[in-house]
Amino acid sequence: MDNYDEFDFETNAVHAGEEADLETGSLRLPIDMATTYKLPKFGGKLMDALLLETSRAPHAYTRWSNPTLRALEDRLVALEAPKGLPDGTKVTAVAVATGMAAVSALAFTFLSKGDHIIVNEVCYAGAVELFGLHLPRFGIEVSLVDTSDPQQVRDALRPNTKLIYIETPANPILRIVDIAAIAAIAHEAGIKLAVDSTWASPALQRPFELGADFVLHSLTKYVNGHGDALGGAVLGREEDMLKLRRDMLVHLGGAMSPFNAWLIIRGMVTLPMRIKQHCENAQKVAEFLESNSKVLRVVYPGLESHPHHELAARQMSGFGGMLTFQLKGGMGASISMSEKIKVFSYATSLGHAHSLLFYYPTDLYVDAVTYLTDTQKRSIREWTGDGIVRASIGLESADDLIKDLDQALRGRTFRGAVGPLAYSVLKGKQ
Ligand SMILES: *Cc1c(COP(=O)(O)O)cnc(C)c1O
Repeated sequence: MDNYDEFDFETNAVHAGEEADLETGSLRLPIDMATTYKLPKFGGKLMDALLLETSRAPHAYTRWSNPTLRALEDRLVALEAPKGLPDGTKVTAVAVATGMAAVSALAFTFLSKGDHIIVNEVCYAGAVELFGLHLPRFGIEVSLVDTSDPQQVRDALRPNTKLIYIETPANPILRIVDIAAIAAIAHEAGIKLAVDSTWASPALQRPFELGADFVLHSLTKYVNGHGDALGGAVLGREEDMLKLRRDMLVHLGGAMSPFNAWLIIRGMVTLPMRIKQHCENAQKVAEFLESNSKVLRVVYPGLESHPHHELAARQMSGFGGMLTFQLKGGMGASISMSEKIKVFSYATSLGHAHSLLFYYPTDLYVDAVTYLTDTQKRSIREWTGDGIVRASIGLESADDLIKDLDQALRGRTFRGAVGPLAYSVLKGKQ
């Protein structure tokens, strides 16, 4: 079934890429754990297998391609770009070991010494650190700007700019970037736009329809949705993805395990319904927090108070399962809450069935880094205050989540009382 555009999102989420097994009739794709495949006889097919000339080359070695990984890639294409690009160009996907393997494969395939890239100055920490700390070591120029302000992106363009990289909604502060506006700037300059759409998932946002040239996902999050497999993917024009597979999957080596691909395919079946529940729960929790007297500020794109609420409503078909908030009691209250939660877990990561909370003190997350200017740090601080609690709202009952937060916001624990002082002493010693 590769006529994806004839079917709705929910149908593709169940079927795309998976055919009944020819021999056994199995409806569920078997996991193909082989590392090595018998090669075709000498001729064109052999050359294709060895040189990866086409996206459906015969399998040779699992770091290059594998049947289970190909099924996952096909399903991703069916969900993210069933009709291809707006001009009809075919989109294909490359699945890799993690979201970060997707970011690094993109960067190292399409950027070389002397090139310049423009990136969100606040995005997933692994990504902003790769761009801010490591690409410059290889002679690649990097401008970190607030891409939610298109003028800053325009001002950062240079003659050697090759790529604009945005993340929206941005991790962890939930700024929304106008994909169509940034795509227009990129294309006017003759360069390409990459969008990390992890926080929206293909269920809520389709960057290709808005002009993106590449879409990235950490499949670890909503796409798999069960918190039990790492994975990542890059999607783009077929010729670009062949280049990425040949140049970087093969050479950097971040291949995904077929077992993880199989788990992620299973997770994708329920993506449409899970996302509905994440959005519904997050809206309720956000409204509860916004009305709670202990809470200073809630940032959730589905609240009218969100500075980019209208853009989010235009660009996304729902507001997602992520929110951040600040407590009036600052770090002490945040520590107490983290210790008192029972349904929520104090943990990083996001996008799965369990609700998770994580606290980011601004001085560690923003002030301490070397790749931001003082002006940028000040502007991020305006958004985050002294620190934010990031919440990944899971699939539990919204009432239970609200009750859990309500009890956790009452009173201080011992560590909550002494923690802020201990933290400032420890920090002074560094
Ligand atoms: C988690 C995350 C990543 C990194 O993904 P991994 O699978 O953990 O490597 C990249 N981008 C965003 C927006 C993320 O939330």
